[in-house]
Amino acid sequence: MNRIGIDVGGTKIAAAAFDADGKVVFEKRIATPKSYEEIVEAVVSLAHEAGPGNIGIGAPGSSGRDNLWRNSNIVLCNGRPFHGDMERAIGRTIRTENDVNCFVLSEAREGAGEGFGVVAFFTIGTGLGGGLVIDGKLLRGANGEAAEFGHMGMPWLTEAELPPIQCFCGKPGCVEMYVSGTGLRQDWRRAHGEAVDGPEIVKRARAGDENAKAAIARLQDRFARVIGNIVNCLDPDIFVMGGGLAELPELVEELPAVAARYSFSGKAEPRIARAQNADAGIRGAALLWN
Ligand SMILES: [Zn+2]
Repeated sequence: MNRIGIDVGGTKIAAAAFDADGKVVFEKRIATPKSYEEIVEAVVSLAHEAGPGNIGIGAPGSSGRDNLWRNSNIVLCNGRPFHGDMERAIGRTIRTENDVNCFVLSEAREGAGEGFGVVAFFTIGTGLGGGLVIDGKLLRGANGEAAEFGHMGMPWLTEAELPPIQCFCGKPGCVEMYVSGTGLRQDWRRAHGEAVDGPEIVKRARAGDENAKAAIARLQDRFARVIGNIVNCLDPDIFVMGGGLAELPELVEELPAVAARYSFSGKAEPRIARAQNADAGIRGAALLWN
């Protein structure tokens, strides 16, 4: 039986079918339509084009206990019975999952985390997403809120980091407000009083600008504190980094030595690797049936 993965994103919907050996036998991507009904229709037509097989769908957000979709940045899916609507419209039993969790599952099983027991995953771009896979299984948690690393409290705030930055989730001082592209922008505003976006700060740092290099160093130290905090709780076998900012060596290759300082012993150097599969979202959606 083929496995079909469909990744519903804010700008595009991508689908692929994999045969029993994991080989891609169908692939298609389309622009994400502007209404909920059209999104459902688009997924149905991709599912039928992909042919027979087990279907997994990944999308931002998650299903609550009331079976309504929530916390999605594709806001028109929020409050809708996304899973039920898709299943009814496609006419087959399907599985749905948070898109970051799909990415994590793929990286843990057939990417950078392959062969490791406890895999902690970060996707660091504009925001900060997290995931945990233990012995090949996603840890969702009793309320479906496990591994929301971005919304833990930022550990060990310094004088300069006070008062805590207000998060969009309503709490003060969430990790995402410090460790992300948004965090870089917030940091720059505090340090220099002007609005500069994360990617521009990275560009300036690469060009040798001292202020920008200092901002990246602060980002590295904050990320190291978060990693140290997770080590003190779970001590994962490997951390896998995805997302645009994971291109920075400061946040992958150079991070273990800094993070070690924040472990209880001050010496526990975590293993940190970069994500390997660009199409891990679709691969992970298809893996929901394995
Ligand atoms: Zn928050």
